[in-house]
Amino acid sequence: MPNLTIKNLHATVGNTKILNGVSLSVSSGEIHIIMGQNGSGKSTLLSVLMGSPKYTVTMGSAKLDKKNLLDLSPSERAQAGLFLAFQHPQVVAGVALGNFLRLAKNTIHSAQKNKKPAMAPAQFAGLMREEMNKLNIDPAFMSRSINDGFSGGEKKKSEVLQMAILEPAFAFLDEIDSGLDVDALKIVSKQISTIHKKQKMGLVIVSHNPRILDFIKPDKIHIMSKGKIVAQGGTEILKKIEKNGFESFIKKK
Ligand code: ADP
Ligand code: MG
Repeated sequence: MPNLTIKNLHATVGNTKILNGVSLSVSSGEIHIIMGQNGSGKSTLLSVLMGSPKYTVTMGSAKLDKKNLLDLSPSERAQAGLFLAFQHPQVVAGVALGNFLRLAKNTIHSAQKNKKPAMAPAQFAGLMREEMNKLNIDPAFMSRSINDGFSGGEKKKSEVLQMAILEPAFAFLDEIDSGLDVDALKIVSKQISTIHKKQKMGLVIVSHNPRILDFIKPDKIHIMSKGKIVAQGGTEILKKIEKNGFESFIKKK
């Protein structure tokens, strides 16, 4: 069973330290939630794992099984099975969502050991329509430029659609529930849970909203503060957070 193992990871932007020794281990099939105050380094951790050139890793390791992720380019990491749903998805003008996803899926397929054949446009469009329907996304989005003029909620749904289509081995979902109305939150979190049950990937979800846990049952909850994971536990941790906030929770440690 594939494992993602992060040990004592330190990272900087310029001269500023942002990650100060993150250790985290996720097996495929598991769901981990990361919570923590704004600015604690949650998004940075996910970006560093995906290989964002903005950050410099100064210490520690990140491995997917025996593969050293830190030696791989961002596209090699994606081909190895990592996926990030961005907190703030970027507009990619002039690139249709459907074309992008078909190219990305076929690129991932061709990099796999037991190569699956490339999907033809018509076959792929069928798959897209099916997955879009499950997320209540209008099929017209297939030919729209990525995130161009999408509402906040539509961007988040589009990220989940990408995960459904690309079938990653490990997926990182950064505040996937932010900006969603109650109905969209229900659709999105149920669909994440359904995709997880089907694909059995390892999932790391950054969230502030305990309501996502109405539909998604995590194996572990981690609290991050100042670039480190300072506490871990099960859902009982949520009650402590609700009562005392992150601040007091972290101070108690
Ligand atoms: P979180 O996702 O937990 O809210 P972030 O990982 O986005 O936090 O940010 C952690 C800290 O690192 C913040 O103080 C943020 O301002 C800083 N930071 C992140 N990326 C950059 C960057 N590219 N340049 C400067 N500071 C950054
Ligand atoms: Mg963030």
